Amino acid sequence: MTPLWVVSTGPGDPCLLPPMAVDALERSEVIAGYGRYLDLLPAGLLEGKDILQTGMTGEVARCSAALETAYAGRPTAVVSGGDAGIYGMAGLVYELAYDKGYADRVEITVVPGVSALSAAAALLGAPLMHDFAAVSLSDRLTPWDVIERRVAHAAQGDFVLVLYNPRSKGRQWQLGRVLELLRQWKPAETPVGVVRQAYRAGQEVRVETLGTLDPDTVDMLTVLVIGSESTRVLGKHLVTPRGYMKKYGLDSQEDS
Ligand code: SAH
Repeated sequence: MTPLWVVSTGPGDPCLLPPMAVDALERSEVIAGYGRYLDLLPAGLLEGKDILQTGMTGEVARCSAALETAYAGRPTAVVSGGDAGIYGMAGLVYELAYDKGYADRVEITVVPGVSALSAAAALLGAPLMHDFAAVSLSDRLTPWDVIERRVAHAAQGDFVLVLYNPRSKGRQWQLGRVLELLRQWKPAETPVGVVRQAYRAGQEVRVETLGTLDPDTVDMLTVLVIGSESTRVLGKHLVTPRGYMKKYGLDSQEDS
């Protein structure tokens, strides 16, 4: 069995690249990835490797090529930004491996990592202390009515809502429509954390509200965290109480 690692590269800063990811990259002869994510890796990790690079929409070609090289006996890594198992490459690699009948010769390992939601939450404070949902607004692979239905149910269920892929050059109206939908269920004062380029050069973190957020200030390098009914703004931070303070009061030492 030849190893094929699907390696999470985290939000960008090498300090959030797990040692397990570094180990997988060091052991790989071939590394496949989208240019932007390869560029964020420490250059030393790519030295002496064969690089399989395609554009953003070349996911199938890239993962297929990686599977071919692993099937031919060369240890290979597919890199995927954030967590490879969250809107990343892990699913496609498994699907292709089973579809092509490669699964018995290639040993697939997913290396977990820091997703945009955990990176953004850390920069904002602690908005994901209670139940949350994530929805990608990209309708490239998901019908728009499914996306709207999920957003509406998350709002009705009072989940904190993380929006991935909120807007791109080719998808301009969708975020405005989603904000409109959310305002039907949630007060205009609901806080919204806006995090752009988390743990990368040009990082921006701000807290707005559902009423004030201008979709034009958001792009595809941004992730949004929309508060639940209990999410609070504390100073510059966004916090969703888990309930400790209410249950145990200030003096509690409990930790669970
Ligand atoms: N697998 C990735 C998500 C890929 S989808 C992960 O786990 O994070 C791409 C979307 O993720 C972007 O449009 C953006 O919404 C979000 N994203 C990824 N990295 C980000 C970062 N460093 N800062 C802010 N948002 C990010």
